[in-house]
Amino acid sequence: MEILIVEDEKKIADSLKKGLGELSYEVNVAYDGTMGEKMFAQQKYDLVILDINLPGINGIELCKIIRQQNKSVPVLMLTTFGSVPDKVEGFDAGADDYMVKPFSFDELIVRIRALLRRSQQENLPVGNLLQLADLEMNLDTKQVTRSGIVIPLTAKEFLLLEYLLRNKRRVVSRADIGEHVWNIDFDTNTNTIDVYINYLRKKIDKNFDPKLIHTQVGFGYIMKEHD
Ligand code: CA
Repeated sequence: MEILIVEDEKKIADSLKKGLGELSYEVNVAYDGTMGEKMFAQQKYDLVILDINLPGINGIELCKIIRQQNKSVPVLMLTTFGSVPDKVEGFDAGADDYMVKPFSFDELIVRIRALLRRSQQENLPVGNLLQLADLEMNLDTKQVTRSGIVIPLTAKEFLLLEYLLRNKRRVVSRADIGEHVWNIDFDTNTNTIDVYINYLRKKIDKNFDPKLIHTQVGFGYIMKEHD
């Protein structure tokens, strides 16, 4: 989970980064609105924590810019105590939730988890179906087909394919795969992932066109229809 914090109060920003980092969130910090806009454009985030009073572009403006680029990323706004107009403006600009400073870290975590849970559910495909070209993966029945032909997968192959498909058209590194499909302590020095990618290729790509699993040399793997 990647979180962007845009907050000019360095002390707050840094303690949030540290606390969230300890809970295994990947956190980047921008100390002003202009930097926040740049960082948001550069990479995909799962959640944005946005202070309202910022130098450069203020939080309300930045929230509007974020919404133009991405309708679904949850935005949690930080506002100063008693500033009701801030809250209203924040929601109007597309914020999903707000917290009044000073707040407890535990309260923030509760809100973050709720927002992430909600956005993940909303992003679930209809009928729990993941799809790319003629490849279909039904998450309810655990059935995988290509051109309507059923392809039996082991549980691990299924999990790996699910992760790749959820991130289709996006490069995922071996470290990403290790962490999400195996576990957080996965030793990326072994060739386990490459072995499983080969199993998958034999099953879903070998006898079909176009090939869907591609190696991005030096980066990892990507699932897409075209080279
Ligand atoms: Ca501020």
